Amino acid sequence: MRSFALLSLLVVAALPAAEEKVVIWKLDDVKAGEQKRLAPGFKRVAEWAKAEKTVVTMGVICDSLEKPNAEDVAWIKANAVENGGVIEFWHHGWDHKSWTDAGGKQAWEFKGPNLATQSKHLKDAADLFKQTTGLTFHAFGAPFNANDDTTIAAMDAVPSLTIWMYGPKQDTKRQVLGRSLNIEVATGKVSYEKFAQDYVAKKPTGLMLLQGHSGMWSDESFQDFVKIAALLKKDGWTTLTASQYAARTAKPVQK
Ligand SMILES: [Zn+2]
Repeated sequence: MRSFALLSLLVVAALPAAEEKVVIWKLDDVKAGEQKRLAPGFKRVAEWAKAEKTVVTMGVICDSLEKPNAEDVAWIKANAVENGGVIEFWHHGWDHKSWTDAGGKQAWEFKGPNLATQSKHLKDAADLFKQTTGLTFHAFGAPFNANDDTTIAAMDAVPSLTIWMYGPKQDTKRQVLGRSLNIEVATGKVSYEKFAQDYVAKKPTGLMLLQGHSGMWSDESFQDFVKIAALLKKDGWTTLTASQYAARTAKPVQK
């Protein structure tokens, strides 16, 4: 009885309080190759996170690692949470492509292609990232946030992926983190003013997974991001990585 009570207590303690407000920064489009170098905007955010003693997450487009740049790869390793840094890197696809097929239909890397193709892109990207950096992806966010039911099946090709960023609600095998507010008014353009308006109007609670493209940010966008982060900090939001959040809210995985 006593051990059962203790166990219950531990389970309760591991869960965030119902009213706990958690923000996860989802920063897309890291590249680290000779032809596709790391954008300086990511380094600026990492330096900010270190100074703030906080964490962010960044999505890696993995075909850039076919010809890796040694300096960029060293930066990824040094900044990874696994190595004591402030960034959780996540799977943001192999080539991040979208195109119009022969029939004039729009297709994306993970919306349209068949199971074998999607599985290969997921696995090749995860394997190359591991081989290049020594790190394992736990979260996946599709390029353009475009995915279909085939992607859910393809995810089985990489069992370490247990978290979706902006994924399909019908995936019962993995934890799906949804979208609520936005910090960018257009891809790569942050607006503090618009965010603050939405924040007051919608009064979000629970989890906010906020997407940005730090590599494209102007000085103004970066400053607006810093102001948004300060607003949330002042308002009692806890900042976590996707894996930290998943560990705190874990439920038994359905097989
Ligand atoms: Zn992207």
